[in-house]
Amino acid sequence: MKMEADIIIVGGGVIGSSIAYHLQKDGYDGKVIVFERDKVYEYASTPRSAGGIRQLFTTDINIQLSRFSLQAYKAFPQTMAVDGEPAEIDFKQRGYLFLATEEMLPRLEIHMKIQNKYGVPSQLLQKNELLDIIPELNINDLAGGLYCAEDGYLDPYSVMQGYIRCAKKLGAEYIYDDVDTILSEQDAITGVRLRNGREYRAPIVVNCAGAWAPLLSEQMGLPLPVVPLPRQVFQFDIVQPLRKYLPLTIDPTGVYFRHEGEKLIAGFSEDREPGYDFTWKRSYFMEELWPILAARIPNFEQAKIERGWAGLYDFNTQDHNAIIGRYPGMKGYYVAFGFSGHGMQQAPAVGVGLSELIRTGKYKSIDLTPLRVERFAENDLIMEDAVV
Ligand SMILES: Cc1cc2nc3c(=O)[nH]c(=O)nc-3n(C[C@H](O)[C@H](O)[C@H](O)COP(=O)(O)OP(=O)(O)OC[C@H]3O[C@@H](n4cnc5c(N)ncnc54)[C@H](O)[C@@H]3O)c2cc1C
Repeated sequence: MKMEADIIIVGGGVIGSSIAYHLQKDGYDGKVIVFERDKVYEYASTPRSAGGIRQLFTTDINIQLSRFSLQAYKAFPQTMAVDGEPAEIDFKQRGYLFLATEEMLPRLEIHMKIQNKYGVPSQLLQKNELLDIIPELNINDLAGGLYCAEDGYLDPYSVMQGYIRCAKKLGAEYIYDDVDTILSEQDAITGVRLRNGREYRAPIVVNCAGAWAPLLSEQMGLPLPVVPLPRQVFQFDIVQPLRKYLPLTIDPTGVYFRHEGEKLIAGFSEDREPGYDFTWKRSYFMEELWPILAARIPNFEQAKIERGWAGLYDFNTQDHNAIIGRYPGMKGYYVAFGFSGHGMQQAPAVGVGLSELIRTGKYKSIDLTPLRVERFAENDLIMEDAVV
């Protein structure tokens, strides 16, 4: 067997698999190999994600990415069907809602205007209108909220599996092995070396290794400002069900919550040391989150925590946004990581964009240039005001 490919993708999570799928779908006729070291995706970020899909961003590029991806997710069951079987991803368009105090509202109004410019149907809700969305909400300290009814949440694992299935069907090969090093000679990519010593040759390598991606890049002497940042999610049940299903709701404190089936999940971006740490603490939920949740919705007072988990953000320490495109000075090296907690809502657009860039040398459907590697050296950072 020849250990050669035209394109090697390192990391078969939602980003790597979306890119693999789009390359094949767009008619790329070279050989694409995806290397994934964790066949059951135990520690990958994708299955540990909260699956929130929002267009409520404040930078042009993030709004465009989400808006593009939302259309893809709406059509996903049909476009990604295999042998007539729809690719269900449980996309619940129940809305996304930022709750706001009096001081927060003017800022959200500015956000809304930017979003509306791109056709996002976000709207400012008055205090009492919040009760139409969540009848049980305690609105005493609130002045209103920013709401987008088109947004919602989905099942990240199903999205990833949908991409994997279609990518494989169209000809991409998945090899479940660990990439040790990305290889290069004279400033050009030559392939990868696996942990078992085997080498695969390819002129193009796309680094989609998520929270582990910066290690591979740094090893090549091509560092990027991304660290693994642990994030906890908790699932709980309540005695008295809510009258309506929740949008993905962000409390003014930053605590978020939504339905997960008939149960609920909640999380918060707490201060954590970077590291590959997958521990989660029941006590954190009880001491930090539960008081906030119970004060916001009385039904949450009787929350019974059922389980929790921790996953990693591939966190860009400079501007908290993805880094996508060619790495300057290293021919054939492409990156797509640093998603900083919003990769699910960007995966379809990133797949389309990188497929175009790799195949044709430029973006066509969506311009991802603002997220280029060079922006750090050029001091042209993307400062997003709506980070969760
Ligand atoms: C708790 C939590 C909540 C989140 N909530 C949201 C949300 O609400 N909305 C949203 O849009 N995003 C959310 N995200 C972010 C989103 O999940 C990620 O941005 C997205 O899943 C990143 O996908 P990925 O494919 O880049 O990474 P991953 O899914 O981690 O995939 C990378 C893959 O690379 C593999 N790999 C790594 N190193 C190697 C190697 N050397 N060789 C071979 N394989 C390798 C890994 O095994 C892994 O499977 C959340 C993330 C977390 C952790």
